Amino acid sequence: MKRVFKILIVTLVLIGLVFITGCDKKKDDGKLTIITSSFPGYDFARAITKDNKDITVKMLLKPGSEMHNYEPTPQDIKDIKNSDIFIYVGGDSDEWIDDILDNIDVKKTKVVKLMRLVDLVEEEHVEGMEAEEDAVNEEEAPEYDEHVWTSPKNAITITKKLTKVIVGLDEDNRSIYEENSSKYISELESIDNRIEEVVKNAKRKEIVFGDRFPLRYFADDYNLKYYAAFPGCSEQTEASSKTITYLINRVKKDKIPVVFHIELSNGKIAKTIAKETNAKVLEFKSAHNISQKDFDAGVTYVDIMNDNIKVLKEALN
Ligand SMILES: [Zn+2]
Repeated sequence: MKRVFKILIVTLVLIGLVFITGCDKKKDDGKLTIITSSFPGYDFARAITKDNKDITVKMLLKPGSEMHNYEPTPQDIKDIKNSDIFIYVGGDSDEWIDDILDNIDVKKTKVVKLMRLVDLVEEEHVEGMEAEEDAVNEEEAPEYDEHVWTSPKNAITITKKLTKVIVGLDEDNRSIYEENSSKYISELESIDNRIEEVVKNAKRKEIVFGDRFPLRYFADDYNLKYYAAFPGCSEQTEASSKTITYLINRVKKDKIPVVFHIELSNGKIAKTIAKETNAKVLEFKSAHNISQKDFDAGVTYVDIMNDNIKVLKEALN
């Protein structure tokens, strides 16, 4: 009984500490700062905190730049350490964050790893894909696919969980955050329903990417079969003639009308495949990042998915 009492006391003290820390934060300067490593976390946090001037949401990745080549500046590291909430993906492309995390004061900064918020799948190597350069190390621990945000179903889960984190640090504005969040979630749900509808009514359930394929979560959630030149996080840009020939034959055999490339890519492989097959080349956005112009215009993840629905419709019919 005594022991139970002790545990209870410790728990109450811990809850008290969390509460006090939470209050202190608001007393300090009355403002919350959310730092995100890339666009998806930025978009979800921005949607939840919309119209609250006491919150700063900042993305470290520069609009228009490649997430996989990102190098943090000393200011970025300072920003992370001084933030109230730090959101990152947690995969290969932001591995640099692991070193910084050891030096973060977790009492001051709440760290949110997107890959911890949803069920993960392993990065996959499908038929016809370029062999991986580090294939020798294949027996190592499984490499989970980091592109969790690419499925709108995951985006809904992430937004719900992120809302709880933000509310936990700023109870006073709970109603604003919850209202914003449920509005954004209903937009995401409508996107999800529309994709389901497009796939259900489509002639085919197969997509071809003359590019990397960071959309495994998307393809899995909507039961789409995919072919691509490289897996999601591959650093390769030059495909062998064997890979290109495989994709050309696949497009011809299955009469695929559209070959995709992803944003911020030169689309070279997709164009080569298209030339040999008369397929059309279109861009499918993986939402790693957006252009400066779109960033300035306030383009959201929902807008990006709206564009994707249009091109998907064309590719499946
Ligand atoms: Zn990636």
